[in-house]
Amino acid sequence: MKKFALWAKLLIASDKDSNRMFDVVSVEKCSSYSYEEVKGALDKALDEIDALSFVKPGMKVGIKANLVSAMAPEKSATTHPMLMKRLCERLMELGASVVIGDSPGGLYTPMFLNNVYKTCGLEEMVKELDPSGEKVTLNQDYSISNGEFMEAVSIKTFIYTGWLDKVDAIINFSKLKTHAMMGMSCAVKNMFGTIPGATKPEYHMRFPEEKAFANIMVDLNEFFKPVLYVVDAIDGMEGNGPTAGEKRHIGAVLASKKPYGLDMVCAELIGMGYSDVGTLVAAGERNLGPKSVSEVEVVGSSLAEVKVPDFKRATIHQSITFEGKGIKGAIASIGIKLVYNTKPMVKASECVGCKKCYETCPAHAITMVAGGKNGLPQIDRSKCIKCFCCQEFCPKGAMKVHYNLLGKFANRINHV
Ligand code: SF4
Ligand code: SF4
Repeated sequence: MKKFALWAKLLIASDKDSNRMFDVVSVEKCSSYSYEEVKGALDKALDEIDALSFVKPGMKVGIKANLVSAMAPEKSATTHPMLMKRLCERLMELGASVVIGDSPGGLYTPMFLNNVYKTCGLEEMVKELDPSGEKVTLNQDYSISNGEFMEAVSIKTFIYTGWLDKVDAIINFSKLKTHAMMGMSCAVKNMFGTIPGATKPEYHMRFPEEKAFANIMVDLNEFFKPVLYVVDAIDGMEGNGPTAGEKRHIGAVLASKKPYGLDMVCAELIGMGYSDVGTLVAAGERNLGPKSVSEVEVVGSSLAEVKVPDFKRATIHQSITFEGKGIKGAIASIGIKLVYNTKPMVKASECVGCKKCYETCPAHAITMVAGGKNGLPQIDRSKCIKCFCCQEFCPKGAMKVHYNLLGKFANRINHV
């Protein structure tokens, strides 16, 4: 009898494992940022998963937006203010107050952040929505906190932006974009903005290898555990993301209570898969996230209705695979390195000499030399760790990802 009970238990466990589902993700079609459309789509996406059931009157909710840089909403690099407005309205209706914040690359100071808020359209949105400034605010707390997270894979101790300690719950509101280092920037990657801007380069230096870096994002998601994740995928960014790519219409708003299934679905929408996205692989290897979109329950619109299969990838990462053992894995890894032996390279005709790349480079590999309008960056290849921060933060898209011939050929094949 005992034997039968054990066998039944094992059978149930293995059955559970084979049918394991990670997270419920709601997907709603939304063709524009008009208030009416946004309201309809976001409300549905939230209500389908009972997303706001955690809100209690008097609660202070922090929305971690994606404000990667001071860029206008039309550039499609940052969380759109219209979606943000509707989410704030819903929270206010439930009696909560809201703080919106982020720490983009660069200085974490009032002057720097206020310019970001203004350019990203959030300053105006908040003024209109709550003229009293009592219910919805843009974060002005620039304190720093110390984090300790012993379950972390990459960062057991770290510093983070202190405003997140002063809210009762965190909502992660990301933008769907390509990303030179991680393949895709969405829900999981968005948590890197909890690290103060000037400290981010230090992490790039400490963790130059993709897998360790991807694990930082997973660590941060597990540490902060946002109660809700929302994705602005009405217009995304393709190509040279997360800041220098082109706007590409996708037409969807997504929500989930967990980040990994949500990112899996977002990857699927833009024609990517598990092994194309560093953060998905890191989460999958830790058994926190799915390895296939079939392990995610999707509600709302069908993925086929919103899928953009020819979405242009970030040029560096066509397929990052951290798996593969023995000789096969070694050959695959050498092959990937040979094909995707990319490096940052400035296009002099587009460079305005603003020095942002020079200031951001964690390896101090860039010097400004005479040339162009106001000087040109020169990269010391022996120091460069290929973190692509210079490409990410160049406001003019002048720092490009450069390929060798094999890489160019492989890209062509990938995009046909
Ligand atoms: S030159 Fe660019 S890619 Fe190289 S280390 Fe500096 S910021 Fe990173
Ligand atoms: S490459 Fe970009 S960030 Fe660097 S100086 Fe030129 S415009 Fe500025």
